[in-house]
Amino acid sequence: MKLDRRHFLAASGALAAGTAMAQASSPLPFFINTLNSPLLPPVKGKKRVVVAGGGWGGVSAAKHLMKNDPDLDVVMLERNPVFFSCPMSNKWLIDLVATDYLTHSYLKTAEQFGYTYIQTEVTGFERDRKRVLTAQGWLDYDYLVIGAGIRYNYEAWFGNDRRAAEYTKAHYPAAYIPNAEHFQLKRGIQEFKGGDLVMTLPPPPHRCPPSPYERACLIAAKIKKDKIKGRVIILDPKESPRPITDGFQEAFANLYKDQITYVPKAVIKEVDPFNKKIVTSAGDFKFDHSILMAPHQAGEMAWKAGAIGKDTEGKYTGWAAVDPIFLNLKDDPDTYVIGDAVGVVSPQFKFYPKAGHVANAHGRIVARYIADRAAGKSPKAVLPDNLCFMMVNIDPLQDIAVRFKYHIDEKGIIIQDQFDDNYRTEDMVNEDFGWAARMYGDMFG
Ligand SMILES: Cc1cc2nc3c(=O)[nH]c(=O)nc-3n(C[C@H](O)[C@H](O)[C@H](O)COP(=O)(O)OP(=O)(O)OC[C@H]3O[C@@H](n4cnc5c(N)ncnc54)[C@H](O)[C@@H]3O)c2cc1C
Repeated sequence: MKLDRRHFLAASGALAAGTAMAQASSPLPFFINTLNSPLLPPVKGKKRVVVAGGGWGGVSAAKHLMKNDPDLDVVMLERNPVFFSCPMSNKWLIDLVATDYLTHSYLKTAEQFGYTYIQTEVTGFERDRKRVLTAQGWLDYDYLVIGAGIRYNYEAWFGNDRRAAEYTKAHYPAAYIPNAEHFQLKRGIQEFKGGDLVMTLPPPPHRCPPSPYERACLIAAKIKKDKIKGRVIILDPKESPRPITDGFQEAFANLYKDQITYVPKAVIKEVDPFNKKIVTSAGDFKFDHSILMAPHQAGEMAWKAGAIGKDTEGKYTGWAAVDPIFLNLKDDPDTYVIGDAVGVVSPQFKFYPKAGHVANAHGRIVARYIADRAAGKSPKAVLPDNLCFMMVNIDPLQDIAVRFKYHIDEKGIIIQDQFDDNYRTEDMVNEDFGWAARMYGDMFG
């Protein structure tokens, strides 16, 4: 295969730390760039958009930027070599779908839509100079889109005790971030021989609010099918499952009476991963295996960009402070934050659901805003929607769902309407896979 500039950038990042400029000017196959040189110089006469993070938001933004304005120079920076989908991954945990159903090629997608993908670690931002720093050098931009995803706030549980945090991540991973944790969790579920498997749910807001309950149902379904003497104990800081409250409660009571114990108002007070013990406001729990989900915050890149808002007492909120409608940082019209990292957008419902569906829509929306601005036009407000299917039964396969719609009221406030589909059906499973096919098609097709 002949390597053009775009191919080489992606391939070189995947190999180690080579750069296109290095390749062009050096007799060596590639060399390590330094932080004091540009990773990729700007293309003359083109406006550059750097997309930091190639998750559900970033991949959507990169593709739709190119679709809206093929003259833009779009560069997507992502640390992982392939895209791994968290949506649908609960089904993968119990082998209902294969690994290649969840993974997609960044390289092929970038090539198909004409943007540049560089596999690299984003290490910082100099927004005053419109510059992104990476492990392989810096990039200047005209517009910046940050799709940072989330990070686990283990500090809320362990303070500065890194050993406890690392031990937890290694032995009892949450698998809520696309990386190797998913494989560790899957192994833990496959090797579960019985006893109590305790799941701690993060306090809201957190990534994909209904998905921990889906995960509990599918693990319980496997325990039931394999006739294992074990149960899943859900420690939920809330009063009841949310959203799709009735649908989940009905599944717990009628499908998994012997396999799921749901504990409401279980606010975490202490987690001891070494002695397998959890202290909560609803009692103390010992576990044989566990999925320990620490509280969520905006991902590291949003912190590095100085995008995190502060509350009235000057404390960090943990989430990016954006204009609720245009999604740019409140202090920077050329930097957009999309997806799960986004902070409060409405006094009515506070946060958009931290969902791939919303992140995908955000990517499309900011792509439109940026293309309009690059063409000298004023962008018109566009809001996302949200749609989320949750599998709760495998015999037969059945899903429940939740849908959200948004509009702006006469005071300029974003209003959310929520519709729960509590009644589980087999038809909804088809809709679930249809949804995933549409989403993957939109981002990679
Ligand atoms: C089990 C589970 C089930 C889910 N089910 C659904 C569902 O059914 N429907 C739904 O809509 N949503 C679902 N979600 C939620 C969905 O996965 C997230 O909402 C979505 O991934 C958010 O997109 P994002 O772009 O904001 O973040 P991400 O998709 O996490 O993307 C962030 C990207 O940034 C990269 N990155 C981070 N830091 C750096 C750095 N320093 N340098 C380079 N790259 C970096 C990461 O590698 C990642 O690829 C589910 C999530 C989980 C965990």
